[in-house]
Amino acid sequence: MRVLVVGAGPGGAAAAIELARAGVETLVVERSRWPRAKTCGDGISPPGVVEARELGLDLSDKRPLPLGEISTPRGYRFSSGWRPETPWGAIVERIEFDARLMALAVGAGARFEDATTVREIATGGDGPRARLARGTATAMERFDAIVLAEGATGGLGAKLGFGRHATRLVALRGYTEALRPLDPAFGLYFDRDVSPGYGWVFPLDERRANVGVLVDERAVHRRGGDLRGILEAWRTASPAATAALGGAPDLGRVSGGVIPTGRRRRIRGSVFAVGDAAGVADPFSAEGIFQAMGSGRAAAAALAAYGPGRRAERAYRGALRPFDRNAREARRLRLGFHFVIDAMVARAVTRPALAHHLSASGFFMKDSLPAFLWGIARNW
Ligand SMILES: Cc1cc2nc3c(=O)[nH]c(=O)nc-3n(C[C@H](O)[C@H](O)[C@H](O)COP(=O)(O)OP(=O)(O)OC[C@H]3O[C@@H](n4cnc5c(N)ncnc54)[C@H](O)[C@@H]3O)c2cc1C
Repeated sequence: MRVLVVGAGPGGAAAAIELARAGVETLVVERSRWPRAKTCGDGISPPGVVEARELGLDLSDKRPLPLGEISTPRGYRFSSGWRPETPWGAIVERIEFDARLMALAVGAGARFEDATTVREIATGGDGPRARLARGTATAMERFDAIVLAEGATGGLGAKLGFGRHATRLVALRGYTEALRPLDPAFGLYFDRDVSPGYGWVFPLDERRANVGVLVDERAVHRRGGDLRGILEAWRTASPAATAALGGAPDLGRVSGGVIPTGRRRRIRGSVFAVGDAAGVADPFSAEGIFQAMGSGRAAAAALAAYGPGRRAERAYRGALRPFDRNAREARRLRLGFHFVIDAMVARAVTRPALAHHLSASGFFMKDSLPAFLWGIARNW
């Protein structure tokens, strides 16, 4: 079996690692020159650290982040550890994270061509074909299956009829030097200025942080479409962010992107979409690296186990169900966004038993964080 992987982000790299380790002939093509930077918060959640470790990428050389801190629209603050089986997360610049993951794929036997773009995918007949552009030369090649890991900005999935994404989140971030030593915590600040959404402070080391905002695209339009203005207003006024950074240090050049979530179709004619191309990022937190690795591995495992065909399709669809369940809960949560976060943290502040429960159960990064939050808001 010969499989083409389109894109060398975490979705494509994870698929390539899994395929190559199963002995499948694997070609990964990436349109950028490698290594490439990717606009991101660089946050690898605790389950993401575990997923990376299972793929062979050990992040213990990074500063471990044993805490998550949140603030709510009404200004409540809460800090908690994670679940015992996933005790810490890490912040890793994507130029490094993606390159290390991709090196594992090459080490496992995958062939890798950077500066190579897939211009077109055709399905039907005796297997999918892809038009590969290397410089000015293009060639149509046949494969037994294709893993489409083109991320949020590729357009091949749309041409294959995978449909629009259900919700779109937009995010903008920059890097800064904090004016005080940074706590080893993921800071997610659900302030009114960025609602529905949050601002973040993710420490790369003791002083350097990735700082940004994530907001629902429709809310940005309602505020005149000025995401840069929203980031500036938030980072200079948020009490939680300025406390974390010791003030409002300059962010320098900022860059942003879209996190597409929810897609109706992910499979067509032995082309399996993974990661952002499949819309599996969490629509509440916009976390997408863990989901890209997980879906990439799942698509590869299905293809390696069954070869292209219905059984592989069924297995992959089944593996995506938990992501879809989480997405449904997250969309419900967004409707009551302020109230749920405020209610939960307000209760935790005044009820030590709930605070203990949240900490012990690993408040963030439940299998379904939104369902968990609803449960807390209703029952405590
Ligand atoms: C501002 C911002 C902050 C974010 N912060 C976080 C965070 O802190 N934590 C987190 O978990 N997630 C975060 N995300 C989401 C995360 O970045 C994505 O979900 C994740 O990168 C998806 O991985 P992927 O492999 O699907 O796609 P990508 O990482 O985008 O990789 C896709 C690759 O495919 C290549 N490609 C595209 N088209 C072609 C083609 N036709 N031919 C060849 N190659 C092609 C691209 O060049 C790219 O390298 C953030 C996103 C944004 C925009």
